[in-house]
Amino acid sequence: MTSQTTKNDATDLSDVAALLAAIEAPAGDGVEILDPATGELVGRAPQRGVADVDRAVATAREAQRAWAGTSHAERSEVLNRAAEAIEASAEALATLLSREQGKPLNGPNARFEVGACAAWLRANAAFELEPEVLVDDESGTAVLEYVPVGVVGAVGPWNWPMMISVWQIAPSLRMGNAVVLKPSEYTPLSVSALVAVMNQVLPEGLLQVLPGDGALGAALTAHDGVDKVMFTGSTATGKAIMRSAADSVKRLTLELGGNDAGIVLPDADPEAIAEDLFWGAFINTGQTCAAMKRLYVHESQYEQVCRALVAVAEKMPMGVGLEEQNVLGPLQNRAQYDIVADLVEKARSAGATILLGGDPVADRTGHFYPTTLVADIDNDNPLVAEEQFGPVLPIVKYTELDQAIAWANGLDVGLGSSVWGSDIDRAREVASRIEAGTTWINKHGAVDPRMPFGGIKESGQGLEFGVEGLKSVALPKVTSW
Ligand code: NAD
Repeated sequence: MTSQTTKNDATDLSDVAALLAAIEAPAGDGVEILDPATGELVGRAPQRGVADVDRAVATAREAQRAWAGTSHAERSEVLNRAAEAIEASAEALATLLSREQGKPLNGPNARFEVGACAAWLRANAAFELEPEVLVDDESGTAVLEYVPVGVVGAVGPWNWPMMISVWQIAPSLRMGNAVVLKPSEYTPLSVSALVAVMNQVLPEGLLQVLPGDGALGAALTAHDGVDKVMFTGSTATGKAIMRSAADSVKRLTLELGGNDAGIVLPDADPEAIAEDLFWGAFINTGQTCAAMKRLYVHESQYEQVCRALVAVAEKMPMGVGLEEQNVLGPLQNRAQYDIVADLVEKARSAGATILLGGDPVADRTGHFYPTTLVADIDNDNPLVAEEQFGPVLPIVKYTELDQAIAWANGLDVGLGSSVWGSDIDRAREVASRIEAGTTWINKHGAVDPRMPFGGIKESGQGLEFGVEGLKSVALPKVTSW
């Protein structure tokens, strides 16, 4: 079977049945994808093999040649039309995403994610990247331009499957490249549906999706015909990709794991910041790379911040994503549920105080882990030191700010971070001492297509978003005369 390369011009993809009909494996074939909230069958995902990688890369190469010859204005127009196509299918995409990933329709979840896909496409269409005149004097002239890389092999995770795919697709297409996408084995239907919708308006062969497992991802990222790899996922997989990319010196953008710290300064107002603190940690039920995963609070504010967080958390309904009142959902898969449950048990057995949650209902259908807040916990407890990637936040008390900053910087990851306080100058001073790609002040995880985003240390390499993101999927080319 070939990968999806055809345009779906005539098909109306505005309901879930039509989306599934366009992307599912034939009856009896493919892999069953179950709803993490209910255990019901969502659909059957096709499984591609290594031979499909060869075919898809060859098709991409062919399509990319013509695409590279188009102007920025032409490419931007196509990106804008892809955004419109997503908007026309938005409710169907959000419903499928909710059923497959588990995230609720409402809150900063499925509808929000589909909206972000359109927003990121439009932002990438709007960025200006003019040739840069480096030298223009009696010695001569030199100009720096950014030319297409070629074929981008993109591999993604299961937490924000559509949005992260668009983060990879939008700048790549804008810069004249073709994309072959390998979605997570946990969320292949969402990404395949997104691609089917976008392919209603994209030139044939430019964007292809290959659903399959990690071995397929390894085949794609090591393929000789792939010029650039964009990977978002765990640090362990990122390291494996880096090793396999060495043979052909592939260009890499790696967005990897994090364990973001938040620091609440003594002059913060606990009541005023509590809701933003909550969503900074619990967005997408905590399954977010740049979510706050450990919170350091000054002793003078500790009790108040804990109390205010519990009050906010108690009000946030968790349940099946398609039920409109819910804003928190299940963990996407059982493996992640087990990681979260194990880390909370380690905190409990070390004597930490479970302020809220920590008591999953054993026979509840679906991978639901309750919203959990943990206090009186040491900085070296595994719940603090490891990425929990679920609806749990450890709150650590500090006395000296230097100690809190040392704890924040004490891990080998550095994706996001945040500082919370009333005096912005003071907060900025603290922010300048934190080792992370981004430090937000009085918010956390507020990614924006105009702001370059990426990790330091083992959280990754390279930048996404903004003009810097465009440059990262292009080759710098200097012409001098
Ligand atoms: P993962 O590394 O297990 O899987 C990610 C993708 O890699 C999947 O599509 C998988 O099939 C594929 N894969 C597995 N082995 C491979 C190999 N050897 N070669 C190539 N591809 C391979 O990660 P996950 O569990 O899906 O995602 C969760 C992790 O992703 C968390 O650590 C999270 O922090 C991180 N993440 C980071 C960002 C970011 O922007 N920095 C964003 C989202 C998630």
